[in-house]
Amino acid sequence: MICIPITAKTNKEALQEIERSCLLADFIELRMDLIADGNLGDLITAIRNAAGSVKIIVTCRKKEEALSVNELPQARSIIKDKEMLKMDLLKDAIDLKADFVDIELSEGKAAIGALRDYCAKRGGVTGIIVSYHDIEKTPSVTKLQEIFHKCLEHDAAVVKIVTFAKSAEDNLKVLGMIPYAQKHSQKIIAICMGDEGRISRVAAPFMGAYLSFAALDSDAQSAPGQLTVNEMRQIDNMVKGRRADKSEAVLSSSGQDLQNYVLLGNPVAQSLSPLMHNAALKEMGIDGHYNAFCVSNLESTISGIKGMNIRGASVTIPYKVSVMEYLDEVDDDALKIGAVNTIVNNNGRLVGYNTDWLGLMLTLKELMPVKDQTFVIIGAGGTARAAVYGIIKEGGLPIIVNRTIPKGKILSNKLNCPFYSLADLGKLKADCLINTTPVGMYPHIDQSPVEASLLGGYKYVIDVIYNPLKTRLLRDAEAQGGRTASGLDMFVHQGAEQLKLWTGIEPSRALMKKVVIERLEKIEG
Ligand code: NAP
Repeated sequence: MICIPITAKTNKEALQEIERSCLLADFIELRMDLIADGNLGDLITAIRNAAGSVKIIVTCRKKEEALSVNELPQARSIIKDKEMLKMDLLKDAIDLKADFVDIELSEGKAAIGALRDYCAKRGGVTGIIVSYHDIEKTPSVTKLQEIFHKCLEHDAAVVKIVTFAKSAEDNLKVLGMIPYAQKHSQKIIAICMGDEGRISRVAAPFMGAYLSFAALDSDAQSAPGQLTVNEMRQIDNMVKGRRADKSEAVLSSSGQDLQNYVLLGNPVAQSLSPLMHNAALKEMGIDGHYNAFCVSNLESTISGIKGMNIRGASVTIPYKVSVMEYLDEVDDDALKIGAVNTIVNNNGRLVGYNTDWLGLMLTLKELMPVKDQTFVIIGAGGTARAAVYGIIKEGGLPIIVNRTIPKGKILSNKLNCPFYSLADLGKLKADCLINTTPVGMYPHIDQSPVEASLLGGYKYVIDVIYNPLKTRLLRDAEAQGGRTASGLDMFVHQGAEQLKLWTGIEPSRALMKKVVIERLEKIEG
């Protein structure tokens, strides 16, 4: 539902705005702090006469509670320092049977309690919106939840939380309060101000917020970042139209709701996962999208996943380990590997998985038998862990080889397999060599983690790097008759296993591989 704030300077202009707003709004908020000679009785009567179904909110902000919009010279509280007048005005609104009066949480227990008692005395027709505004920043999720509960202590009919968004993640924190409030059976308005906060204004109504604010015209914003009512209606129609189309599809296909997925990492701009997953989702006939999300605060992003009902997430560097503490459950394989690259949102319960090891094992098995074969694994990071875990699970015999000795030893002790320093690589013999380091990755395509002269003894060589498609290591190995597999197959398999976990459907791995190859060939020119 859309609420248009009346921000006119004078009573006369406010009446004109009301006339136009009644055609477009579900709610009208009378910003009595902005209308210099506002006559509350006149204004409420005008709304009732124009449209009986439009609900009325009466608000009287103090200057420090309202963030001014540059274009609005009158965006200052005319009621500053007149606390008695403000309370009287809100009581008048109750007498005039406004649907809601809005009072700041910071007004304190006595003032809010007095207003509530007054309301009850007058028959309880008017509900109280208890508001919290932070016009500079967005507090932490924990703090927002504390604020929410403080508002509840005052028997708020509606809790209103409005903060200033400095980043896209701030939206997730605030939007996350909507399902949180729903769990407490509480009506809530939760949005962010500022340009970064615009997305929350669009998303909030679809997530079940009680209402979202929209300006009557682009020059009548009551807070920065506010969209116009026309923009909001257009978005609403687009989404509803899309849902209507889908409801027909429901009869003929799977009946699924919009399914959105994200990649969490930092950086993510170069990732090919969105390209690959979106192609697969489309081919699977799933109505949804996969977006890359550059994360700087993991905790709030994870709570946003629940809040925005995102069905699943991929996790990449640097969060594969740290993400585990924010999940409700981690499956056995991921726990043993010590890293999560996939999150499944099971109706608000986040479960972590690792599909990297599966991706690598599927790649390996397409190339060679694993049982009783020996493997040299270069590297001791997250991918090496996944490789060693999978090889042991399938009955193979891994040897860890790493540049940094203590790190290699830790992994070898944890997974109970031999370790050698990279300098000793020449002394080793095995059936297969697997590179899990980033050495040779674009743009350093002429580098290799292993000297060509040492590759002759390996029948199979695998590189987890997929950009370039054929690394220097693989070219050197093939030149000596070795059979090779690139990181592309692992990438496709780990992604396909993610899609299977999220949707329960087997995606087209051939298609996924094709779109990635096409893109990489373009990059490689
Ligand atoms: P990580 O945890 O940072 O581990 C990297 C490992 O590489 C470390 O053991 C490090 O050795 C070693 N290393 C780095 N630079 C080196 C150098 N110049 N010489 C020798 N060793 C070096 O990274 P990760 O998460 O395992 O990822 C590793 C690679 O796998 C990345 O390139 C990533 O893109 C790729 N990957 C591919 C897929 C796929 O689907 N194809 C999936 C996951 C990851 P030290 O211990 O000595 O520092």
